[in-house]
Amino acid sequence: ESTSAPNFIRTQVREDLEAGRNQTVVTRFPPEPNGFLHIGHAKSICLNFGIAEQFGGYCNLRFDDTNPVREEQIYIDSIREDVTWLGFEWAGEVRFASDYFTQLHEWACHLIRNGDAYVDDLGADEIREYRGTLTEPGRPSPWRDRSPEENLVLFEQMRNGEFGEGEKVLRAKIDMASPNINLRDPVIYRIRHASHHQSGEQWKIYPSYDFAHGQSDAIEGVTHSICTLEFEDHRPLYDWFLEHLPVPARPRQYEFARLNLSYTVTSKRKLRMLVDRGIVDGWDDPRMPTIAGMRRRGYTPASIRHFCDMIGVTRADSLVDIQMLYHAIRSDLEDNAPRAMCVLKPLKVVLTNVPEDHEEHFEVAGHPARSDMGTRRLPLSREIWIDADDFMEEPPKKYFRLAPEREVRLRNAYVIRCDEVIHDAQGEVSELRCSVDFETLGKNPEGRKVKGVIHWVSAAHAIPVEVRNYDNLFQVEQPDRDRDGDFLEHLNESSLEVIQAWGEPALADVAPESRYQFERVGYFCADRHDTRPEHPVFNRTVSLKDGWAR
Ligand code: ATP
Ligand code: MG
Ligand code: MG
Repeated sequence: ESTSAPNFIRTQVREDLEAGRNQTVVTRFPPEPNGFLHIGHAKSICLNFGIAEQFGGYCNLRFDDTNPVREEQIYIDSIREDVTWLGFEWAGEVRFASDYFTQLHEWACHLIRNGDAYVDDLGADEIREYRGTLTEPGRPSPWRDRSPEENLVLFEQMRNGEFGEGEKVLRAKIDMASPNINLRDPVIYRIRHASHHQSGEQWKIYPSYDFAHGQSDAIEGVTHSICTLEFEDHRPLYDWFLEHLPVPARPRQYEFARLNLSYTVTSKRKLRMLVDRGIVDGWDDPRMPTIAGMRRRGYTPASIRHFCDMIGVTRADSLVDIQMLYHAIRSDLEDNAPRAMCVLKPLKVVLTNVPEDHEEHFEVAGHPARSDMGTRRLPLSREIWIDADDFMEEPPKKYFRLAPEREVRLRNAYVIRCDEVIHDAQGEVSELRCSVDFETLGKNPEGRKVKGVIHWVSAAHAIPVEVRNYDNLFQVEQPDRDRDGDFLEHLNESSLEVIQAWGEPALADVAPESRYQFERVGYFCADRHDTRPEHPVFNRTVSLKDGWAR
C-alpha cells in the first residue's frame, strides 16, 4: 500500500503500542457535513485510515454534526462516496456526533452537578468582551456563581425550548485568568431552534465542537485523535473535559500541519462561495480542489494517495507546489492510461497520392509498454486532420514538424511531405497538400532522416470530441494569503476553454471516466456526467510536460 510513509504521528503510535499505553489503534476521520471534502481532507483521510491500516486497528467515519444550521444530507452522501472512492473502509456503520447527544447532555449535567459548568445569561458579544485578550485576563460573568440546582433547572429549560436563541448558554467553569483563552469558561451548549438532519426536532440545545469532539472520541474508544494545528491550543480543554467526566476511555489529541496548496484555496467556506456565486459549475467542477472535482477531472484514487504520501506529515506549516499534485497523476497515467490520437486545433491535409476511395488500417498498440492493453485500429484515408500548431509556413531552424517542402512522420503511419500550402481569403493557412512516401511504414526513408512525428486522424473516420481544457482557478500562488483579503480578486478568468476536437474512432463510445493519453497533447478523462454514446466529452486532467523539479 502507498499510505505508509513514516511520519511523527506514526512513530508516536508505534511507541504507544510498544510501551503498552495502547493495546490497539483506533482513529477517526471527523468531517463536518457542511460542504464537500477537498484535497486537504484527503491528507487527513490518508493519515487516519492509513495509520489504522498499518497497525491493524480501525478508523471510524464520524460526522461532526453539532451545527444543524450549516449541515445537509447531500454533504453526508458526498463525503461517504469520496472516502470510499479514495479506497478506504470505515469500521462498521458511519457515526454521528448527534448519536451521542443524549450522553453528552448527561455529561453536561454531570459538570453542572459538580460545580464545573453554569448557565450564563450574557450575550455572545458580552461573553467575548468579558473573555479578555492575550494580554488582558478575562472577567467573571455575573452569573458564574449560580448554584448547581439553579443551573440544572435553567439548563433543563434551555433544553425544553423555553428560551430564545442566544438568550442563554452553558459554559464550563474553568479559569477566567488562564493564559489560554480556550480555558476561560468556554461555551459548551448553545440554544438553536433548528431542525437537525439526523435528530430532527428533538433538541433545542446543541453542544459546541470542543465539548462534543473529545467525548465522542472517548465513546468510540478512539486512541489517537488526530487533527490540524489550529486545535493545538484546544488540547488543554480537550483533556480538561476528559478529566472531569466519567468517560469510558482516554483518547489523546495529536496535531499536524494542514495542507496548503499553491494556486488553490482549501477552505470549505471559500469553496462554497465559488459554488454559490456560480464561478464554478458546482462542488464537483473539475477545477475545484474537492475530491469530487478531482475525480471528475480525471485524478485516480491512487494518485491522490500517492500525493499525500509525497507531501508527508509534519508540524511545520508550508505551501505545497501544485506541480507535485500534477506530477502524481501524470506518473500514474503515464503507466496506466491507454493512448489515443485527438486533434485539438484541426488543419486539413490532403494526401494527394492517396486515391479518393482508398482506406487502410493500422493495428496500433493501446499502450507502448503494456501489451495487456491490446491494440486499436487506426484508419487512414485521403484527407486527414493534423494540429495547426504542427505546421509553420516559415519555420525556424530547429523546427522538426511540418513546413513547406519538408517531411514529417505521421505517428504510427507514413512519412509525408508538404508540397503545397492553400490559403483562405484572409490569407490564413486553410489546407495543406502533401504526398505520402509509401516505403516508410515502420522504417526510415531512404537516404534522409525525418525527425518529427506528429499526431493525426483520418478526416473521414474522425469523431467529434468536446474537449474541456482546465487551468488553475487562481492566478496567484497564495490566493488566500491575506486572511481578510478578497481571494476572488485573484481568479483566473480563463480557467476553462472548450474546444471541438477530432478524435480517432476508438473514442466514439468511451465509458464515462475512461482516461487516455492523447498522444503529444496530455491526459484526458471522459466526463462522468456529460459523456454520452457518440458524444464524448473529455476533461483535460493534466498536460504532458512535468513542471515539478525535485
Ligand atoms: P474547512 O476549513 O475547509 O472547513 P475544516 O477543518 O473545518 O475545514 P472539517 O470537516 O472539520 O473541516 O475537517 C475534517 C478533518 O479534516 C479535520 O480533522 C480537519 O482537521 C481535517 N482537515 C481539514 N482541512 C484540512 C487541510 N487543509 N489539511 C489537512 N487536514 C485538514
Ligand atoms: Mg472542523
Ligand atoms: Mg471549517
